[in-house]
Order: sequence, then structure tokens, then C-alpha cells
Amino acid sequence: MEPIQITNILYLISAIAFILGIKRLSHPKTARSGNLLSSLGMLIAVIATLTYPGKEFDFSLILTGVAIGAVIGLIFATRVQMTEMPQMVAIFNGLGGAASAFVASSEFLTTPDSPFVIVCLSVFIGSLTFTGSFVAFGKLQGFISGRAITFKGQQAINAIIALLSIALILAPGLFFESSIYSGYLNAFFVVIALALLLGIGLTIPIGGADMPVVISLLNSYSGIAAAATGFLISNNALIISGSLVGASGLILTNIMCKGMNRSLANVIFGAVGAETSGGSSDGKEVNIKSYSTTEAAMILDAAEKIIIVPGYGLAVAQAQHVAREVAETLESMGKKVLYAIHPVAGRMPGHMNVLLAEANVSYDVLKDLDEINPEFEDCDVALILGANDVVNPAARHDQSSPIYGMPILNVDKSRTVIINKRSMNPGFAGVQNELFGYDNSIMVFGDAKDMLNDLLKEVKEL
Ligand code: NDP
Repeated sequence: MEPIQITNILYLISAIAFILGIKRLSHPKTARSGNLLSSLGMLIAVIATLTYPGKEFDFSLILTGVAIGAVIGLIFATRVQMTEMPQMVAIFNGLGGAASAFVASSEFLTTPDSPFVIVCLSVFIGSLTFTGSFVAFGKLQGFISGRAITFKGQQAINAIIALLSIALILAPGLFFESSIYSGYLNAFFVVIALALLLGIGLTIPIGGADMPVVISLLNSYSGIAAAATGFLISNNALIISGSLVGASGLILTNIMCKGMNRSLANVIFGAVGAETSGGSSDGKEVNIKSYSTTEAAMILDAAEKIIIVPGYGLAVAQAQHVAREVAETLESMGKKVLYAIHPVAGRMPGHMNVLLAEANVSYDVLKDLDEINPEFEDCDVALILGANDVVNPAARHDQSSPIYGMPILNVDKSRTVIINKRSMNPGFAGVQNELFGYDNSIMVFGDAKDMLNDLLKEVKEL
């Protein structure tokens, strides 16, 4: 067998590992092994590339890069909080885009006859992903305002930048036969500058609450940039893995848009969350009823069917273990307990599933939005633990609300709604929640972990 055939077989094995790995990521039970399998696929692809027949590599340089990357990856993976995961993904996307752009640039600058359109495609998408991802990171981390930043003519400016870039990518080919002409080089640098600008221009008008969708979309872009670079340097592994990232990022983007009942165009161009849009529930006085954990325990005692609704606050408080203990205690008292999982509860897709899986909550009692919503009709108590936007009824009827149209968990249909949070502060979308003032709602203020520990004691004493 020719050495190049061995390389291609190794690439094929790595591609199969990626595909099976992604498949396994779709369920919490198999997700860890899926992650491992995909990592193994990447290791095989790296080995196949470094042993590519006829290529010579500066191994000391490569190993230095691997060591630096591994240390940074290890620090991030072990230190980063679950709630900061979207920021980490944003940074990694941005760096992935930049890496593709750098590889394509170096290919262009060292190989004068490389196809200019493909070089520019990789550099353009990679650079745009880089700045777009860092703006997304800044918004989530609070370095930049999480509000949609808009100004007059913004979309026209973005469109002009995009059209100018396309013209610059295509034009040199009309005037010069070979890319060694300086016309190509000038166009190349201007395309990079425009792409960097466009990444910022496209991301700043998007509100913080839409960032997960943007990050997923940018993830998809980083895959497309990698695939384009793969074509440029004729690397099958890069083409396959880039295409997989591109496709899976788009699928996830689509799932998240469906979760919020919004079109992708509305997320990108709708400027939802701009300073001017507040929602009519904003600033309105709501009459709330504040209860103690003793009173909440008595209400739970009288209930037969209880639905627990976890949200971002539960993750912040790391109260998943005690939440499970409370649920188990209630079940041992003969009550039916279910968990309602909203697709965008928390700060990343699947956040609540991961959180509750960590506390060994059985998958059978985790119900997704469509499955659980009819269950609220005959539910005695909906116990909201650090969730806010995903249970805001304004999403159903208030057209001025930034979350209007997002499918929500219909907790208000329950006989009693017990809401735990620390204050009257709004959730991620920045709007007040009219649910808190509903006749059947009661608030139990406090950190979720402290409150649940108290509640557990009270329930056990019943
Ligand atoms: P929200 O952000 O709407 O609300 C969380 C609530 O938790 C806050 O109102 C906060 O109130 C409360 N809280 C915070 N810390 C604690 C604590 N220690 N104990 C008790 N309560 C606490 O969360 P949801 O999960 O309802 O909604 C998710 C939001 O995040 C949506 O707007 C979604 O679009 C967005 N988003 C989702 C992502 C995803 O992929 N899942 C990613 C990024 C954003 P208080 O401060 O008063 O305690």
C-alpha cells in the first residue's frame, strides 16, 4: 500500500470517529464517550498529517505549539465555570477562525499561484469569525453592553462592506492572470480588514440574550473557514472536520431559533434587546407575595403533582444536588415529581440536562418543553428554581417584549407557582417578569442552595 493511501485511510477513520462522536453527544448518557471518541479522531488526524508522505515539518515548532495549546486548553477546561461555557466556546470559535485565516494567508503568501477566491473565502470567513466571536465573548462577559447596539444606516453599512469584499475577492481575477501581481496582494489585505470590521458590525447589533444563537452560527462559520482552508492545502481531514463543524453549527443554530420561535434573520437583523425595547412589563409595579420556606413546605405537603423548573440561578447556586434531594423526599411522600427543561434555560444548550445529570437525576423525569407544557394544567405546584425568562408569560402576549414569541414553560397554568430567586432583578433578557405578580404566584427569596437546604429540612419534618 502506498504511504498516501495509509494517510487517507487514517483520515477516513478520524472522520468516522468524528461522526460517531457527534452522534453520541446527542444524549447525556453517551456524551462523555462521544467527546472521547471525537478527541481520538482528532489525534489520529493530527498523526496522519504529521506523517504525511513527502512533507517536512519543523517538529520543535509544532511541539511547542502543541504544548502551549494543551496548557491553555487544560486551564480553560478545568477552571471555567459551567455558566461561563458559552464565553469559552466563543473564544475557541474565534481562535479557530483566526487559525484558518492564518493558514490560508501563509499558503497565499508562500505559494503565489494559490487560488485567490478560496484563499479569500477562508481568510474572509475566518477573520469575520474572529472579531464576531470576541464581540460575543465581550457581551456575555459584560465587557461590552449586552444590549443590542444599533445606529441609523447600520445594516446598509454592513451590506456595503460585504458587497465591497465580494467585489475585491472576484475583481483581481478579472485583471491579472496570476496572483503574484500586487493587485491581488492589496485586495487580500483590504479583504482581511473589511472582514474584521464586518465581524464587529454584524455582532454588536445583536442583543445579549441572542448570543447563544450567534455563537452557534459563528461556530458554523469557523467550520466553513476550516473547510475552505482544507481545500486550499488539499487536506482531507480539514475538509471533513470543517464541513462537520459547519453543518452541525448550522443545525444547532436552527434548533435554537426554533426554541425561541424566531427566524435566523430576525436574530441577526432584528436588533432584539436594543436600548429602546423594554417590554411593557418593564417598570410596572407588581404586587408580590413573599413566603417563608416553612410556608412553601406546607404548600408542597398538600400537593400531589409537582413540576420543578430549573434555570440559570440553579446553576449559579450549584443547587442541583439538594434540588434532587428535595425531589426524592417529596417522591418518598408519594408525590409525583417531574422536571421541566426549557431548550434555552441556563446559558448554553443542554445546560440544565448536564446540570441535573451531574446530580444523578434520572433522564426519565426530565421533560422537554412540548412534553411538559400540557402537564402544567393539572399540576399542583410549579417550583421555579432560578429560572426567569423561560417562564415569563409576556413572551406569549406582549409584542413589545424582547422575548415576545419565545415558547415558554406554561408554569402559570399550575395551581400554585413557587418562585425562588434572590431578588426582583430581571433575568438575562433584562425584562421584569409579570408572573411574579400573578395571583397564584408566591416568591421565596434567597440563594437557591440555601433556600433548598432549608426547604429540605422543613419537608423532612412534615
Ligand atoms: P434567566 O437569566 O432569565 O434568570 C435567571 C434568574 O436566576 C435571575 O432572575 C436571577 O435572579 C436568578 N438567580 C441568579 N443567581 C441565583 C441564585 N444563586 N439563587 C437563586 N436564583 C438566582 O435564566 P433562565 O434560565 O430562565 O433563562 C435563560 C436566559 O438566558 C434566556 O433569556 C436565554 O435566551 C438566555 N441564554 C440562554 C443560553 C442557552 O443556550 N441556554 C445561552 C445564553 C443566554 P436574582 O438575581 O434575583 O437571584
